[in-house]
Amino acid sequence: MSDWFEDGLCFSCMQSGNCCTGPPGAVWFNDEEGRAMAKKLNLAVETFYQRYTRMVGTRWSLRENSIDGKYDCVFLNRKTKKPSCLLYEARPSQCRTWPFWPENLSSETDWHRAKKETPCPGMDSGKLIPASEIRIQRDSKYPYK
Ligand code: SF4
Repeated sequence: MSDWFEDGLCFSCMQSGNCCTGPPGAVWFNDEEGRAMAKKLNLAVETFYQRYTRMVGTRWSLRENSIDGKYDCVFLNRKTKKPSCLLYEARPSQCRTWPFWPENLSSETDWHRAKKETPCPGMDSGKLIPASEIRIQRDSKYPYK
């Protein structure tokens, strides 16, 4: 069965930072990603977990900072001209695969909902991403299941 996005979807990151903030949430990561983030920060793995992570249910998430009623990921850097990620090259899969998450791709309505609610100015603009690539990203959001 074909997907509704069979013709591809346009996306280019505009560095709004909006996918790294918003209502309280979770930035999930697995052990391998935890080690990569610790390495990027030149920290011992234990120190990284103590400083920057929290357990939500049975899984690890990055912490958030509450700023002006929004919840920024602890690694969202607002000191740069445009918001940036302090560990960009080592960011976890959840971040790498935005906006091609299963919940955003269930239907065209869900895609438009995510675009509006985030809001994400990069969705439906810029580069056309083929459906084959979108499916790979969609299916790799949660490597820790
Ligand atoms: S790790 Fe980086 S890309 Fe992911 S939510 Fe945090 S600031 Fe954003």
